[in-house]
Amino acid sequence: MYGNSIWFCYNILSKAFTITNREDKLHMSTRIYECLKCIGEKIIENKDFLTDLDREIGDADHGVNMARGFTSVIEKVAQDDPDIGAALKKTGMTLLSTVGGASGPLYGTAYMEAAKVLAGKDSLSAEDFKLALEAAIAGIQKRGKAEKGEKTMLDSLIPALDAYSAKIAEGGSLLDGLDEACKAANEGIEFTKTIAATKGRASYLGDRSIGHQDPGATSATMTLEVIRDFIKG
Ligand code: ADP
Ligand code: MG
Repeated sequence: MYGNSIWFCYNILSKAFTITNREDKLHMSTRIYECLKCIGEKIIENKDFLTDLDREIGDADHGVNMARGFTSVIEKVAQDDPDIGAALKKTGMTLLSTVGGASGPLYGTAYMEAAKVLAGKDSLSAEDFKLALEAAIAGIQKRGKAEKGEKTMLDSLIPALDAYSAKIAEGGSLLDGLDEACKAANEGIEFTKTIAATKGRASYLGDRSIGHQDPGATSATMTLEVIRDFIKG
């Protein structure tokens, strides 16, 4: 199952990108549908893992919720429209209406805010990705009122954005930035094990949530890794 999906992604990737080196950044035409499909497949493959993490400190539904949402995304996003903004908007709306829980509105908002930044674009520069990730995080924070250090998806996403921004500021490409972002996001997962939750359902456990990794930080890191691997081809 996992092997099949990697093969699918590999096949698509080899056809999906036109990559041209332009000075300090990669500029690429993407087929956004295939990228979203790869994200969905990763989440669906990890449904039980994410749900088990949520069983430890929540209500055992994160993987189930997200897999349901992305199954619907794969069905609903237009396969032949290169407009990244349109695809992300549809993704956000679909996640909002299908995922439920805390993560549905949060991920839904994240994709919809990123969609506004990327409206009408069929290619992604290093700066575009930074602005989109910034907007996604701002949307999550506006909706969820959480900061870094509260044991949520933000503990992976905010360090990922910081690492990404630092890398491209020193001349790194989109891919260089994503490599750093993924490292930071994984460190963020490790950090969530060391702290107590103060937002979301896990906060009901107080200090008993220490020692467990946050499910949302885990799904957010998976998302960044799939984007990185997709772009890497
Ligand atoms: P629920 O907690 O409603 O069952 P999920 O299990 O799908 O929803 O998602 C839980 C995840 O949502 C958590 O692991 C955490 O990362 C994230 N989360 C919860 N509340 C917030 C918040 N206020 N801001 C950011 N992320 C949050
Ligand atoms: Mg839950």
